[in-house]
Amino acid sequence: MLIPKPKYLINGNVTQINIEQLKLDNIKAIIFDLDSTIMEPHSAQLNQSVAQFLDLLKPDFKLAVLTNNKNLNYLERVKEVLDLPIIPHARKPAQAGFLKIQSMFDLDPQNILVVGDRPITDIWGGYLVKMPTCLVNPLQIEPKWLTLLRNLERALIKKN
Ligand SMILES: [Mg+2]
Repeated sequence: MLIPKPKYLINGNVTQINIEQLKLDNIKAIIFDLDSTIMEPHSAQLNQSVAQFLDLLKPDFKLAVLTNNKNLNYLERVKEVLDLPIIPHARKPAQAGFLKIQSMFDLDPQNILVVGDRPITDIWGGYLVKMPTCLVNPLQIEPKWLTLLRNLERALIKKN
């Protein structure tokens, strides 16, 4: 089975998303993946460029984080540096977490963008709930084997 192409394929990390384009496309809220998308895994630190990017979004978009991470002790540390609602243990691509945030936002799915670094969890999940999706590169530099796996996963995306 192939994964539908994301609406936005970013040639860079999350901070390279074009905010003005999102406004033009009537995006009103964003559901972010956590690990590798807005925070380096196991860091519990928000890097300065991501923090600035999130601050730029806050006036115009509702924001939330949906993560498959289920380490609640770690997520408590994340909450100390990330001032956004976080839904843990989402089991993406399962739909429940996306739908919970959608009802919290009280918006139609087409107005909610799903942003993540993994096709088979973030992009596939967003597709299942009919939300537009955005695939980004990971924040951190990875070992070569992990980049290879990532490229294999990306090869599952339809070409058009
Ligand atoms: Mg991730």
